[in-house]
Amino acid sequence: MLPELDELTRGYLLRLVTRYRLRLRKRLGQHFVVDPSVIRDMVNHVDPGSRVLEIGTGIGILTYYLAKRALEVVTIEIDDRFVRIAKELLGGLANVSIIRGDALKLPWPRVDIVVSNVPYSITSPLIVRIVREGVPKALLTIQREVADRLVSEPGGDDYGRLTVIVKCNYLITVLNTYPPGSFYPSPEVYSSLVMMSRREPCHQHLEEVELVTNILFRHRNKVLRWVLSKYLGREALRDVVEGGFDVDVRVRQLGIDDIARLIKILRPYMGRLRAAASGVNDYAH
Ligand code: SAH
Repeated sequence: MLPELDELTRGYLLRLVTRYRLRLRKRLGQHFVVDPSVIRDMVNHVDPGSRVLEIGTGIGILTYYLAKRALEVVTIEIDDRFVRIAKELLGGLANVSIIRGDALKLPWPRVDIVVSNVPYSITSPLIVRIVREGVPKALLTIQREVADRLVSEPGGDDYGRLTVIVKCNYLITVLNTYPPGSFYPSPEVYSSLVMMSRREPCHQHLEEVELVTNILFRHRNKVLRWVLSKYLGREALRDVVEGGFDVDVRVRQLGIDDIARLIKILRPYMGRLRAAASGVNDYAH
């Protein structure tokens, strides 16, 4: 049994996470929460009675408090050592299932919300998976820089493909920001707690949004005219001009609704875009 949520202290959490003297693996983003306010903020943003999927169980502390509030928690952890410890800590709770494996590869159950203190190494692919799965909500602690990317506006340095994909499908709220010392061992960066809530998508076919942004954001500083000519030729450029677009605007200046409108015009060219993408599909831009 762990203490009640409002009696939880940093000292208690630190003792718990250091008790096992495990060598933590940076590669797996193993930074455990030791700041009770992070746990409280996260738990308080989960509706009582919801079905939760947690990514990255660790030793199961956050899982424990989620389980006290939720109807059901399925939690996925890649590291065997933690699966064993978490099973002990959570053994008494009938509404928790612990699954060992890679959360990016395993199938996900249908849930109301994904909750995660996200291992840094999988932040972008995890967010993309959330969007593809169409999960109603996601409550994530992520690097502040990535949170900045998610909420950034057209034109800014942070504005990119990830921003577009996410904002096209979710409303984003940054709920809080925590210093490195909120986690053990301390990461080098601040972390932000972000809520993603599913909205009416800016465009119904996600694959088309992924495809068009894949090509566009390879050239985020180029003007639309240049990118369209390079990949699709004169005809497509003409269609876009006739659709009322200023093609001398730079890719990074296109807002979500501009991109949605552009995709509609480019629908006859999806085959060519797919060929141009040729299996490359990363979210670094
Ligand atoms: N939820 C805990 C642990 C956060 S650290 C807490 O809040 O303290 C992130 C955890 O994610 C680590 O336990 C790490 O082993 C796990 N992890 C890393 N990559 C993973 C993946 N691909 N799938 C599932 N778990 C992963």
